[in-house]
Amino acid sequence: MDVRSCPVCSTTFGPDWSTLSRLAAGGEPVATHVCPECTLAWTGRPQFRVDTCYRSRVWSRDAGGLLESGDGRVTAGPPEHRADLAAARVSDLRRAFAAVRTRRRVRVLQVGLSAGPVVHEAGRGLRVNAMALEPWAPWANAARAHATEVHQQTLESWRRRGMFDVIVEHDLLPHLCEPLQHLRTIAGRLAPAGVALIEVPNLLRAAGLSDEEVLSTARPFWFTPRALVTACKRAGLTPFHLAADERLRVLCRVAPPLAMTVPGVLASEVVDVVRGNDTRLLLKRALFRTGATPSALQMAAIVHARCTRRAVRADLAIEIATACERTSNFEAAAHWLEVSMLDRPDPEVAQTLATLELLRRRVRSLWLDAPAANDPMPSGTARLAS
Ligand SMILES: [Zn+2]
Repeated sequence: MDVRSCPVCSTTFGPDWSTLSRLAAGGEPVATHVCPECTLAWTGRPQFRVDTCYRSRVWSRDAGGLLESGDGRVTAGPPEHRADLAAARVSDLRRAFAAVRTRRRVRVLQVGLSAGPVVHEAGRGLRVNAMALEPWAPWANAARAHATEVHQQTLESWRRRGMFDVIVEHDLLPHLCEPLQHLRTIAGRLAPAGVALIEVPNLLRAAGLSDEEVLSTARPFWFTPRALVTACKRAGLTPFHLAADERLRVLCRVAPPLAMTVPGVLASEVVDVVRGNDTRLLLKRALFRTGATPSALQMAAIVHARCTRRAVRADLAIEIATACERTSNFEAAAHWLEVSMLDRPDPEVAQTLATLELLRRRVRSLWLDAPAANDPMPSGTARLAS
């Protein structure tokens, strides 16, 4: 076994690390393990140079903006979806600006431009001095077209003196071989009342099949909220705001480093969540391909019955209900929604169930009121007579 340790909490790699997957994207035989202490997920052996790590972002999709469609495919979504994501990032940055305590112009540094020059948009109407670091020439040039000052370097190699009131970065940390050192460098560049906004994709909400579309040596680390907050605290950044959906965002201030691991989800639970999502997605794709035929529903019921985790079972039941609804099998759809509620009561599902019940009643009354064309009984005549 390799003697190496977690780059966030220094726990030595060993048999107590959970194996999340033995394969990575593209069928690469590279395993992903989850640290038992801080729950950082680690694919392969990230022992590259820093500039190579920065370059690996170019081959990674923007995980924060991926969308799962009705057939289970994962895409970047339509232009409106991408516009919503850009607006959400501007809103995050405005929250950081609002938390800065300074009377001077706000000095802003964006590290990496994979998400585009968001500072330009967020700083509209504010007194902001912005600059960016981006070693990848196409992204650097695109930002310069928006009149952003860009230095074509990594944060680690940048020698210019200066402190900043706001430092922001998107999905850079998971690509770096030394994420903790990177956060320490950010802490060293942050003014005493300044704010760092760090965004990374959330492993617990990652879209796609883990070993085909999520885990990759191009992005060797995936963070949970627990791993990200732990990394920040150990690097001398104290988070005072955390938002977690498909993207994890923390707003931090400089503080003395704390050699601690914050409480939160366990490594075994991380594995359950990721594998549960894989099962759900495989079932969703299979049901979309075959339709909710009796044999497909029988297979789906077996998958559901074998699942031991309640949250995953609830998700599976909802996928089965959706497939039934698609073929107008409202009776079966209602049944599976009810089954999902046994594992996880959910007001939205209850609302859908109520709507479905109305629909079922309407369909039933239509059948009762309108005689079938091949009805052998002269019920139409009888009704007309009555
Ligand atoms: Zn760790």
